[in-house]
Amino acid sequence: MKKEIESIVQLGVKDIPTQWYNCLPDLPEQLPPAKDSGRGESEIEKMKKIRPNVLFEQDVNMKERWIDIPGEVLERYVQIGRPTILKRAIHLEKYLDTPAKIYYKREDMLPTGSFKLNSSIPQAYYSKLEGRRHLVTETGAGQWGVAVGFSGRLYGLDSTVFMAKCSYESKPYRQVLMRLFGTNVYPSPSGKTRAGQEMLEKNPNHTGSIGSAISEAIEFCTDTSDAAYLSGSNLNHVLMHQTVIGQEVKKQLEMIGEEADELIACVSGGSNLGGLMLPFLPDKLKGSPVKLTAVESTAAPRLTKGEYRYDHGDPAGLTPLTMSYTLGMDYIPPAVHVGGLRQHSGSTIVGLLRKLNLLDAEAYDQNEAFKAGKTFLETEGILPAPETCHTIASVINSALEARESGTSKNIVFCFSGNGFLDLHGYNDVLLKNKNI
Ligand SMILES: *Cc1c(COP(=O)(O)O)cnc(C)c1O
Repeated sequence: MKKEIESIVQLGVKDIPTQWYNCLPDLPEQLPPAKDSGRGESEIEKMKKIRPNVLFEQDVNMKERWIDIPGEVLERYVQIGRPTILKRAIHLEKYLDTPAKIYYKREDMLPTGSFKLNSSIPQAYYSKLEGRRHLVTETGAGQWGVAVGFSGRLYGLDSTVFMAKCSYESKPYRQVLMRLFGTNVYPSPSGKTRAGQEMLEKNPNHTGSIGSAISEAIEFCTDTSDAAYLSGSNLNHVLMHQTVIGQEVKKQLEMIGEEADELIACVSGGSNLGGLMLPFLPDKLKGSPVKLTAVESTAAPRLTKGEYRYDHGDPAGLTPLTMSYTLGMDYIPPAVHVGGLRQHSGSTIVGLLRKLNLLDAEAYDQNEAFKAGKTFLETEGILPAPETCHTIASVINSALEARESGTSKNIVFCFSGNGFLDLHGYNDVLLKNKNI
């Protein structure tokens, strides 16, 4: 009993972080700025018209390390269940027979099932403050679309979501959930926009990607009055909003007198990774040996196999050029069951951390990932989202390394979301193929 009780590290509501951590002033090199491609209308200007201004300013704030979280956003953070618990995975540790201690931050406890609300709520709040009435966005696996639908509801705003077609079809219940919030959901590529029509003309069987959905959402937002275009990841402000995760983790580790030796998170646009790890960056830069590990899908191995250069974030080239690791904007990832990790490029902050060797990277395929997810379900009793399964595959490897070398270490990972609406993927990869 005592061991079970001690495995839960719980903060009080009063311990909720009241500021976001902006890492830009602390980065050892200046972050390479977004650029225009020089073809036609400036992409940066185009984005300025559709994005809420505050978010644009947050993206380039090189001065203030700490940004106050508006009171109304803090109230919503409490409403959705922040602070979340940090849990020690004692049953997984026992199963792996590892001397490592494994802790996971339960962002799956938020009402939509993932960490995405930490940024969709402030983004909807600022949109409303600036007089926008309609939220427009793209979504890969659907977790971000659901978070925007929920946040639109909170603030009485309409919402429209373009969802990668392969996920739209394989995760039908995420669209149902969005529709229950009153969100309009379209499978991308759709016939709804010129960008979508062109993609379908070139390839009628286009399975869609987060990139195709970005192109469509931008075009739709530009053509809709009083609309705000929101992004669920990649951008500096999104990573910053997510730093509530890592700030809470730091406090939780302090409470139990432990330090993290390794932080692990899966990475697509880098927001759960940034959220968990950036608050530890100042310590790392001062010489703390904490290891930071990014886990990607072998379907989109940007950090492990991509090139560090400027590229557009979407296949139609509507977004500004940003510097990161990329597989090229024409890259169409295979239709794996991990919608949230299928992206050809990524966050500028994550790219720089990787280039400076502050961040390690590993890639896992969906077989290894879902198997790790199943092990977690069998031991800890919680069903991870496919993205989180990738994180867990890396956690298990690291814990087994600790067993082999006979050294203890503290592994902390972000449990980014639950997998209740992703059971189709578990069925296809594990059960149908008798792959267990
Ligand atoms: C969106 C999502 C991710 C990946 O997004 P990042 O911005 O790279 O963090 C990971 N896990 C879950 C559950 C998600 O919904």
